[in-house]
Amino acid sequence: MAIEGRTHKPVVDHHLCGTCTICYDACPAAVVPEIRQETDTLRGRAYRGYTPAPASSRQPAQRMPSCQSRCPLHQDVRGYIELIGQRRYQEALRLIRASNPLPSLCGYVCPHPCESACTRGRLDEALAIRALKQFVATHCQNDLPAPLQLPESNDKKVVIVGSGPAGLCAAHELAINGFAVEILEAAPHPGGMPAQVIPSFRLPPRALQHDIRMLETMGITIKTGVCFGRDITLAEIWQSGADAVILAVGTHKSTPLDIEPPKTIPGYLDCLTFLKTSRQPDIIDIGKKVIVVGGGNAAIDSARTALRLGAEKVTILYRRRREDMPAADEEIELAAAEGVSFHCQAIPRQLLIKNNQVVGLECQEIELSSILAGGTPQPVADSAFTLTADAVIAAVGQQLDAGIANQHQPFAITPDRHLFIDEKNRQTNVPGVFAAGDAVTGPSSVVEAMADGRKTALAVVSFLSNQKKSSL
Ligand SMILES: Cc1cc2nc3c(=O)[nH]c(=O)nc-3n(C[C@H](O)[C@H](O)[C@H](O)COP(=O)(O)OP(=O)(O)OC[C@H]3O[C@@H](n4cnc5c(N)ncnc54)[C@H](O)[C@@H]3O)c2cc1C
Repeated sequence: MAIEGRTHKPVVDHHLCGTCTICYDACPAAVVPEIRQETDTLRGRAYRGYTPAPASSRQPAQRMPSCQSRCPLHQDVRGYIELIGQRRYQEALRLIRASNPLPSLCGYVCPHPCESACTRGRLDEALAIRALKQFVATHCQNDLPAPLQLPESNDKKVVIVGSGPAGLCAAHELAINGFAVEILEAAPHPGGMPAQVIPSFRLPPRALQHDIRMLETMGITIKTGVCFGRDITLAEIWQSGADAVILAVGTHKSTPLDIEPPKTIPGYLDCLTFLKTSRQPDIIDIGKKVIVVGGGNAAIDSARTALRLGAEKVTILYRRRREDMPAADEEIELAAAEGVSFHCQAIPRQLLIKNNQVVGLECQEIELSSILAGGTPQPVADSAFTLTADAVIAAVGQQLDAGIANQHQPFAITPDRHLFIDEKNRQTNVPGVFAAGDAVTGPSSVVEAMADGRKTALAVVSFLSNQKKSSL
């Protein structure tokens, strides 16, 4: 940083800046409160109390500190941590909500790319950014901040199918741009995967409900128990007065294992069915020995849930090494601490069934060299072994439920089985129908789905604004 002549303006060289923030303590801006309000000068922008500009004019990622640029929502991490440090909790939450309408949800389950990027981590340990967000969201829970000041309505209505993180974030972005928003949700409760399958020991239901309540105070309406394609057609949505539609339907079909039995067998389950059913523990008996196949979040959640349902031995079978598992490290460690065993470098070969009930799994070891080479894991010859089990849970991925394509006006699906969109305008093959979230990208994370929802909402804003101009 250099000080500019008589004005003493700090000048940040963004190529050299390591965002260590030492300059803040030395900077005259810190002692001149008005400078914090400057959004169009470098010193204002560099100061951590900076309030972000509206979504449409947000700064390019390379101009942000690494925690902010690595976050798919580009949240002003330093700004809200500073406010929390000053015990200005309501203001901190307001600043978070300016770019993240689901702070409680993210405070519990976000994979926090901001922490991996935190410059402090180079010195000792990254700041506990997610925990701070969780703290401030929980602290202010009984003290709802006043609803955001919304612009005057522009008389345009957008219908969003799906109330997961992508749909909710798209709804927020559209509402702050003056659109009327209606969300149609097939499930009895809003919230998508986080409400339906992320276990309550990781995400207390009230946290997500609070975020959703805040969105409802902005005038966003959510109709639950309405399945697009079954209870309502696209033609009916247009007839209801919608000017655009966003499909944010997620990936609600579990990828089957190669060894999946042709018909339902007691003791063989897919992870989404298992996690959804586990919310009604009285109707599920998982048995004493459980094997979960997979290495992602869904596998870890299934294993930890099985323990809570009374299983005594839960084993995760994963084809690569434990350090290669896509699940979050902290979740893997928690599962191990709770007693989940890991059998890595092995794949399932055959489901063992007796009297129409799963009794075990025949498996095979995987060659370490094939894992290290990064290609498809290769089985070791003559390495078959058997694990006994009362239940085998498949948790090897999720995909789009292709039912969405079988509409009167079908939606195009990519070879990877995602909803097709034109990247330039984020529309599907059906004019005026956009798509967002996991349905488009494949399984991702809450914060990535939210960022995708926002991107699509901004595409809708631009589409409808251009339409308005051309009709003038
Ligand atoms: C077990 C598990 C654990 C996870 N843990 C984490 C985690 O810890 N951290 C993290 O960041 N991410 C996690 N994820 C991933 C995260 O939940 C998803 O990436 C995210 O929810 C995707 O958001 P979305 O809005 O695109 O879709 P979804 O959240 O799937 O929402 C789609 C919504 O659309 C609805 N819908 C579908 N079809 C229709 C229809 N025809 N009509 C009306 N509504 C419809 C669905 O009911 C659903 O509510 C996890 C995923 C799973 C499966």
